[in-house]
Amino acid sequence: CGIIGIVGREGVSELLLEGLKRLEYRGYDSAGIATLVGGAIERRRAEGKLVNLERRLAEAPLAGSIGIGHTRWATHGGPTEGNAHPHATDRVAVVHNGIIENYQALTAELTQKGHVFVTETDTEVVAHLITDYLQQGKAPVEACRLAFHRLEGAFALAILFAGEENLMVGTRRGTPLAVGYGDDAMYLASDAFAMAPLTNRLAYLEDGDWVVLTRASAEIRAADDTPVERKIHVSNVSA
Ligand code: GLU
Repeated sequence: CGIIGIVGREGVSELLLEGLKRLEYRGYDSAGIATLVGGAIERRRAEGKLVNLERRLAEAPLAGSIGIGHTRWATHGGPTEGNAHPHATDRVAVVHNGIIENYQALTAELTQKGHVFVTETDTEVVAHLITDYLQQGKAPVEACRLAFHRLEGAFALAILFAGEENLMVGTRRGTPLAVGYGDDAMYLASDAFAMAPLTNRLAYLEDGDWVVLTRASAEIRAADDTPVERKIHVSNVSA
């Protein structure tokens, strides 16, 4: 299972797919990507091998210059296309590695507020929780901050917002996530290998960190929301 996120590269879906191929060695049962097309979240997902996702993308290409991708190792809900990540509402798309331990309580709360769940995963609740804060009028970064404080478990997350071509938020707790620094582009990935064709300059997030990416910047906050610097390494992993 693995995550990749890219902000600011035309032809993003091919780059996401290449990143997912480089995450294949970690094991997975399904895969998917989401990008913004005219500001709207568009997804392609498939069960099984990446070749199935590749075929889906050949039939129905995805444009865009910002996007997230995921290889899934199912823990909650079978390895079907419907349970494959990214999970999305009309406002937010999410990829997740790990487990949201308190997803049942959060799902019950959000269902009562009118959110409609369509998968069996623990991940979908993250999309609805952030959407709920957006519906309350919070800005995307603040909506994520509030949501992250309510999540329990182990997770790495990357989040895409409808209408926000220059914004991605990520976080990690108990599962790795690295930030990649490009030239007028920024990246998130589970490991340096996935990012190697994109950049070799990266910073590993520490436990509880979360990050706000634009194509020109990465602002990292610690678990208590204070701004922090994480050392940028030059990786020697080869592309
Ligand atoms: N718990 C999530 C799911 O089952 C994420 C699994 C993963 O780490 O790939 O969908």
